[in-house]
Amino acid sequence: MSTVLRAKCAHCDYQSELFPPAYLALWLDEAPSELETTLAGAVLNVPNAGVEFEKVQHAHLVPLPHPSEQGTLERYGYTHERASREGRLVRVERMKCMACGTFFERKQLYFLPGGCEPSLASGPLVGLISWFLGAPIWAAVVGGVLTFLLVITLVEWMTKRRNAGLFPERAAELAGDVDCPKCQSANIAPVDNRVAVPCPKCREATLAIETVGIS
Ligand SMILES: [Zn+2]
Ligand SMILES: [Zn+2]
Repeated sequence: MSTVLRAKCAHCDYQSELFPPAYLALWLDEAPSELETTLAGAVLNVPNAGVEFEKVQHAHLVPLPHPSEQGTLERYGYTHERASREGRLVRVERMKCMACGTFFERKQLYFLPGGCEPSLASGPLVGLISWFLGAPIWAAVVGGVLTFLLVITLVEWMTKRRNAGLFPERAAELAGDVDCPKCQSANIAPVDNRVAVPCPKCREATLAIETVGIS
């Protein structure tokens, strides 16, 4: 479940288009043939009639609107697993500049969380073996839990390390927008922090985010 948001000024009549705070996108080698909306399947309480944000059409990215990511992936011949393995999943997060009120997208490679299974299996296994070998039940349980925690930490660390080194060019290309593209301020925040920012129309610091639907 994801929310659908809108930026609305308390001082003038400015309101933005509707948008999700974040979504996944698929990286294609070729330019996508059709434009996908990020709001397909969303339940909206208000019409999507506000001012559109400046769009930067990315040469490789197709948005995967929530909750039908699967369907869009399949249309392009991918599954979540394959897209993740090939470094094609991109998390796009809507950010806002606290200094000038510009809304922009921040993108980074995203990998499906993996490695839960070995940790889940190893804990009980170690517990069972210790108990079988004559350890007291409390020691077997503690040993099992500790093993679980150790393995999950190790697997996560290894996955992160591996992912960080994979697809370096793609990661670098996506990591371009870290500051505000308009005023270059580094004072940026995720869009759903509730602090008001300057309105693009009246310039008063009265532009706030409201929830207007779910997807
Ligand atoms: Zn305003
Ligand atoms: Zn700015």
